[in-house]
Amino acid sequence: MTAHSDAPRALTVLLDRDLLALNRVVGALRRYNLAIEGITLGPAESPGRDWLTITLKRDSATLDTTVQKLRRVSGVRAAALLPIDRGATEAAAIETQAAPSAITPQSETTMSTSELRVYYDADAELDRLRGRTVAVIGYGSQGHAHALNLKESGVTVIVGLRPGGPSWAKAKADGLDVRSVSDAARAADVIMMLVPDQHARAVYDREVAAHVTPGKTLMFAHGFNVHYKEITPPSGVDVSMVAPKSPGHLVRSEFQAGRGVPALVAVATDASGAALPNALAYAAGIGCTRAGVLPTSFREETESDLFGEQVVLCGGVTALIKGGFETLVEAGYAPELAYFECLHELKLIVDLMYRGGMKFMRYSISDTAEYGDYTRGPRIVTPAVRDTMRQILADIQNGAFAREWIDENKTGGANFQRLRQVDRDHLIEQVGARLRAMMPWSEEGKAAAATTLARPGRAPAPVRGDERVAAR
Ligand code: NAP
Ligand code: MG
Repeated sequence: MTAHSDAPRALTVLLDRDLLALNRVVGALRRYNLAIEGITLGPAESPGRDWLTITLKRDSATLDTTVQKLRRVSGVRAAALLPIDRGATEAAAIETQAAPSAITPQSETTMSTSELRVYYDADAELDRLRGRTVAVIGYGSQGHAHALNLKESGVTVIVGLRPGGPSWAKAKADGLDVRSVSDAARAADVIMMLVPDQHARAVYDREVAAHVTPGKTLMFAHGFNVHYKEITPPSGVDVSMVAPKSPGHLVRSEFQAGRGVPALVAVATDASGAALPNALAYAAGIGCTRAGVLPTSFREETESDLFGEQVVLCGGVTALIKGGFETLVEAGYAPELAYFECLHELKLIVDLMYRGGMKFMRYSISDTAEYGDYTRGPRIVTPAVRDTMRQILADIQNGAFAREWIDENKTGGANFQRLRQVDRDHLIEQVGARLRAMMPWSEEGKAAAATTLARPGRAPAPVRGDERVAAR
């Protein structure tokens, strides 16, 4: 660790002479917990601007990231890291470069532009939720996390559920104010819809719509129902989205650890003129502005989310695993070996990519594996496969997939249940359950160990893991 052994440097920020801008900069810096040796604030050459200089010792990587973050803070015109002794001369040069004509307007951007705006705690005003009541409809993966995090952030929360449903007692036991969906929607100023997407329209039509009156805010954690017009909120109502990029249990556990998960924010209708700051206040209440909130649109979030889960994260990966597994087994290799090669080791590879990208993964594997990667991978994902990806994207964009999924649910979901069953019966699942029972760190392994301890000599029964960890 070289973290604190470096020479002190001057983190130099040119900012608008505005207490809010200063507050945002300080807020952004606080997140890094930097050991500060000195702070000076003084007028810059350009009218209405000041220099903030902070002397500190820290490793270059952290300081570079800090500078990048500061450049995105609203009201910051330039930010740089300078050697202590040359601070003054170089600052003058930076200021010339940041002359008003050279400053890019800090307008809202969407994800498709490279200069992506990121909102942090300093950009959000949680106080906007004070005096407003939030109804969280649904208490599942996302619902429980939103309701509990908001409550602990000091927000008045009601949970809306169907009486007698499994979640009702759970939310009550967690100390929340639980009411029927319609009672919660009636009493609330902000209504966050967190029931499964395929049931949201029915819940909305039956119990929420009547209470979505002018001045209220209707919120979602995924754009599906608004984008595909399953739910069309009335005018005079703000419609916005805060979509955590993580399963609900992490939204909760990160918040409890004093951190947060990143999220997307979008506004479909800005009736009040303050839909975005209000949505950011909600994001702050569930902890997401601690990690960073990226702006998007309902369309972009919905389409990219569906594409990711269909082509790569869920559909693509499972089809690739099954294809590889079946090829080895057909060729006479032991299913157990095929399982290790095609499924088990995938986690190790994904963990490496998650940590440091493909480069880091390839640094870890053998040269033989790396050569096979470059030369064989493109033979699997051929131009024809890419055409299929484009077709899948087109079906998402033109609404064909949404229509198919909505119709599936309207007709009882029998085909969905059949597909589920076929894959549950696949050989790879049977082999996998047996093998995982031999690995004491896996869920099945823990259960097997417990069973063996309790009843020596008995074969362990496979248990079901948490199937509900979503891909987003
Ligand atoms: P979920 O866990 O499947 O939601 C289950 C909850 O919805 C339960 O409390 C359930 O109550 C309630 N519910 C189901 N049907 C209902 C009905 N007809 N009336 C009243 N309540 C009903 O849902 P989720 O995964 O959190 O997803 C919620 C939203 O967040 C979706 O828009 C999803 O796309 C989005 N999202 C999810 C994730 C994720 O990680 N899961 C991530 C980002 C965004 P009962 O106990 O009564 O059945
Ligand atoms: Mg997703």
